[in-house]
Amino acid sequence: MFPFHSIAEYHQALIDGVTSCEETVCHYLLRIEESKQLNAFVHLYKEDALNRAKELDKSFQTSKSLRSLHGVVISIKDVIAFKGHPLQAASDILSGYQSSFNATAVDRLLDAGAIIIGSNNCDEFAMGSSNENSAYGPVLNARDNTRVPGGSSGGSAVAVQAGLCMASLGSDTGGSVRQPADFCGIVGLKPTYGRVSRYGLIAYGSSFDQIGIFSQNTEDAAAILSVIAGADEFDATASTNKLSSPLNLKLKGEKKPVIGYFKQMLDHPSLDQEIKNSIYSQIEKLKKDNYVVKEIQFDLIDYIVPAYYVLTTAEASSNLSRYDGIRYGHQTKNAKDLDSFYAQNRTEGFGKEVQRRILLGTFVLSTGYYDAYFTKAQQVRRILLEQTRQLFEEVDLLISPVSPETAFKIGEKTSDPLQMYLADIYTVFANLTGIPGISIPLFEHTNGLPFSLQIMANHFQEELLLSLSQEWMKRYGKI
Ligand code: GLN
Repeated sequence: MFPFHSIAEYHQALIDGVTSCEETVCHYLLRIEESKQLNAFVHLYKEDALNRAKELDKSFQTSKSLRSLHGVVISIKDVIAFKGHPLQAASDILSGYQSSFNATAVDRLLDAGAIIIGSNNCDEFAMGSSNENSAYGPVLNARDNTRVPGGSSGGSAVAVQAGLCMASLGSDTGGSVRQPADFCGIVGLKPTYGRVSRYGLIAYGSSFDQIGIFSQNTEDAAAILSVIAGADEFDATASTNKLSSPLNLKLKGEKKPVIGYFKQMLDHPSLDQEIKNSIYSQIEKLKKDNYVVKEIQFDLIDYIVPAYYVLTTAEASSNLSRYDGIRYGHQTKNAKDLDSFYAQNRTEGFGKEVQRRILLGTFVLSTGYYDAYFTKAQQVRRILLEQTRQLFEEVDLLISPVSPETAFKIGEKTSDPLQMYLADIYTVFANLTGIPGISIPLFEHTNGLPFSLQIMANHFQEELLLSLSQEWMKRYGKI
């Protein structure tokens, strides 16, 4: 019976009376307990989840109908608000904080019948690529416990990878859903900026942040996306653009979508040779299958990571200024006056990486440097957006690697933050331009680790993105 490979399969089992929501929650609670060493969960909502499962079982008995996510067991990254539950962004500065409201995405999951089983470990304030910057300690990759799961949504990725829940929510500001999905061999979707409301998502870089989905397959990602997407009066950037519900994952029309790839991305010296070869041979397979694949010149490749880090740290320095310890969170015992309270509190409460980014963001916004850094980075973003607009007149989808290498060893990159930043080269483009992107686990490296193909589409083209992903996973998937 367990594990179920999709929500549809699970729902069929509920209809056939082969399992119940209660039994399912018990199964996952046991799996989480057995996999404690992975450190993927920071809080478990055992009682809540069991009670909700019993209620859902009862309501199914009487109504005989299932809502779209009835009984689906989901976990959420520790940056997404769930009323009455702890919310810490994996940071000491928020120790003891409980959310007094639900994120819109959480409200919608609950309305659709989902069960939230717990919250997931992550990099502090979603800053990182390895889940090593967490007040709760690192998360281990379930494939190889000596390796990182990727970040910043590492706990959410491992929760799905290790079968500790059916799907999970993460957030993706510069790759934090797609890259851990790549390291863990699962599906990771970052929707278009504005597709999912950010209300109740702890802000990192507000003009980049987007809630994303981890799942075992594209159908489940589609089912969850159609529930959480849509306009929201609490987030002015949440788009009114309609998404069909449920999503239709059958590719429409006779004509195959035109595929593009950035030559400079594939030929970049940082890319592992075997990943490069796999993507090039994927391109050959696509051509053989009668896809038109176009090589696109991309001269701005060396500007995208710097632009991303200038803009996101600038936004973070402003977003994180609210954590002063006055009304909630960590309160230092070592202050003499108000000024030293702020300084001491933030020194004690924030980890090294968060402090580094607040300092960097404050610097790039400071008088005398603003034009040289912040304005320049905004200009790069603007040019990228114009190029993207033109690009999608020529192609329907873009493909690329997700990360220059497979999951690395825990501790391997912690002493060199710059090296860690540069590894975001393949993911930040989608966030700078706001387009949707997905990691699909198509490949296995000779080192035994999985890696993915990234597919990106034009704004609000998630249906096309997911349809094609589904077809390609069936046709080309090995793992
Ligand atoms: N690795 C990127 C960073 O550290 C991405 C983070 C994210 O998407 N939240 O900023």
